Amino acid sequence: MRECFEVRDTDAGGRIGELTVPRADVTVETPALLPVINPNLDTIAPRRLATEFGAEILITNSYIIHGTEDVREEALEDGLHDLLDFPGAIMTDSGSFQLSEYGEIDVTTEEILEFQHEIGSDIATPVDIPTPPDVPRERAEDELETTQERLELAETVDTGDMLVSAPVQGSTYPDLRERAGRHADATNLDVFPVGAVVPLMNDYRYDDMVDAVAGAKRGLGADAPVHLFGAGHPMMFALGVAMGCDLFDSAAYALYARDDRYLTVRGTRHLEDLEYLPCSCPICTEHSPEELRALDDDARETELGAHNLHVTFEEIRRIKQAIRAGNLLELVEQRARAHPTMLDGYRTLLDHADQLEQSDPVSKGAFFYTSHESARRPEVVRHHRRLERLSVPDSLFLTEGNSARTDEFDDSWRVQPPFGPFPRALSKSYPLTAEVPDRTDRAALEAAAEGVSRLVEANPDAAITLGHRGWPAGVLERVPEAVERVDLDAE
Ligand SMILES: [Zn+2]
Repeated sequence: MRECFEVRDTDAGGRIGELTVPRADVTVETPALLPVINPNLDTIAPRRLATEFGAEILITNSYIIHGTEDVREEALEDGLHDLLDFPGAIMTDSGSFQLSEYGEIDVTTEEILEFQHEIGSDIATPVDIPTPPDVPRERAEDELETTQERLELAETVDTGDMLVSAPVQGSTYPDLRERAGRHADATNLDVFPVGAVVPLMNDYRYDDMVDAVAGAKRGLGADAPVHLFGAGHPMMFALGVAMGCDLFDSAAYALYARDDRYLTVRGTRHLEDLEYLPCSCPICTEHSPEELRALDDDARETELGAHNLHVTFEEIRRIKQAIRAGNLLELVEQRARAHPTMLDGYRTLLDHADQLEQSDPVSKGAFFYTSHESARRPEVVRHHRRLERLSVPDSLFLTEGNSARTDEFDDSWRVQPPFGPFPRALSKSYPLTAEVPDRTDRAALEAAAEGVSRLVEANPDAAITLGHRGWPAGVLERVPEAVERVDLDAE
């Protein structure tokens, strides 16, 4: 059991957890956002991040501190917490990002880890190799090997009670991500960033991002805190959390503000395009778009940065509440409607429903069927698996109707899309209490037909009749031929 992380609550792959950071003497509740602080210019002062926005943790770059002489001296003398004036936990990055941007950096893993320890970092990062997407497999494997050697080296550096992260690489090869996750999990390192996903997000490749993270998650243990490195847009937090990511870092709030861009949970807007501000944060209630546009550059950047942070932290709180309420996937469904590529991301997430099912609670509040993607949720997958274990009588009537026809059959079960059949005794248990629209859709019917098939295949000797309400021929084709069909609407 990993001592620094404890999972408190789960929903799909998402979880609320506690990351204990001993060197800072703080416990960070996850999912958590780490605002990125550039030690050379801060859009919002770190102290303000803590007091006004409730930031418990932030991230800054030790490589930049190392390379900027006056900042380095001050950091070594007074420590990072005094330098930045921040009371929470401070994570430091190592320069790997600079490595991926500029091709080389001039420090070794031992040097940069020891430096991070000396300046008082609470969570340090070794120098890994962030392999970009789509490289030849051989390169991804070679670079992964180097990253793994560096992690093994990092294990040997005496870092006291500073936590150390173990980045998981592997480019766009899910099996390499899985292998990397398994290797990182077996080290004594503490926090697990999924690295080099920024190029995927920049290109709106949320589907490939989901596959990369799902691969890493398969290799990592359930008790591993996972950081989606470089993911700072609130639009995709719900998707990231549902995959099982616990930490996010945002440079976006400041970078976008510098560029007059206004973050929303449905995407980014340019300040010049806004006639209204669709937000109730202090910045947006006190200013009109014209007033913001009229501010001088620095003031406008600060105000936009503050709005961007408000939206970002608000979304993190909304996600935590959704996990508590058990409706995280319904939030992901809403967010997926903001952009077609986000929808690709959600659909890819559901390709991993089996994986999500492992951490999904057996019982929750209510299942809301709000899109045809809902038919592929982990609850449906679990119900279908359960059908294979239920015992059935010699003759069984499965029906969408109310009449049980027990004079003709030994027993009668209900059928409800998207789940399929279930004994009436289960009708008050989750997820069969689901709220589904009266105007059902093809995906729900097909999922119900799949449920019927599972039951029939597990009970080949039972005589099973299906009473359906006008299912189209293409859906009925999915039900085994041995099943007698009765169209209740035609009777
Ligand atoms: Zn606002």
